[in-house]
Amino acid sequence: MQRLIAGHKRFLAEAFPARRGQFHLLAEGQAPETLFVTCADSRIVPDLILQTQPGDLFICRNAGNVIPRAGEPAGGVSATVEYAVEVLRVRHLIVCGHSDCGVIRALMNPDTLTGLANVRDWLQHVEPAWKYVDEVERNAGELTRHTALAHANVLVQLDNLKSHGYIQRALAEGRLNVHGWFYDILTGRIEQYDEGSKKFVALAE
Ligand SMILES: [Zn+2]
Repeated sequence: MQRLIAGHKRFLAEAFPARRGQFHLLAEGQAPETLFVTCADSRIVPDLILQTQPGDLFICRNAGNVIPRAGEPAGGVSATVEYAVEVLRVRHLIVCGHSDCGVIRALMNPDTLTGLANVRDWLQHVEPAWKYVDEVERNAGELTRHTALAHANVLVQLDNLKSHGYIQRALAEGRLNVHGWFYDILTGRIEQYDEGSKKFVALAE
């Protein structure tokens, strides 16, 4: 905790004065172009890996970058996504999974969830990922299986997203673009899902 307080003091003394004008404008309101849905994992720092600034990204984080389907009880994620699309009118919605994800590990080893009622319950939103994983990937080594499931989970969450009527309308009106991404912690590289090849391909060459 002391490290956090010392960090905030340094922010007030050094970083904030250098950006006073930027924060002055931001205090008036926000107009982010992008909703970034990603995992709560501490190793993903969106503003670092995308080199974005305060005000650029509207961010929704939760274990496993989940977006519950329409008809599920309304929760924080559903409210955040709806607000971003309908009120802030973001033009892009990115669902970003990642390597070494604890939720994917739990999906692969459900026995480890004994006593974690909430996590077990949340995992139901991720379980359909299995249906996107083929026989070869299913029987592959741990890392390949993990990557295949993490990729698949991004597709599941995009499916879930599109179950919402207001998302279908926003897509039909051409005012929203959705993207499936995967971030590799070891290399720092992002892949994006390519509809044409049905594969995740490098976002930057
Ligand atoms: Zn994760």
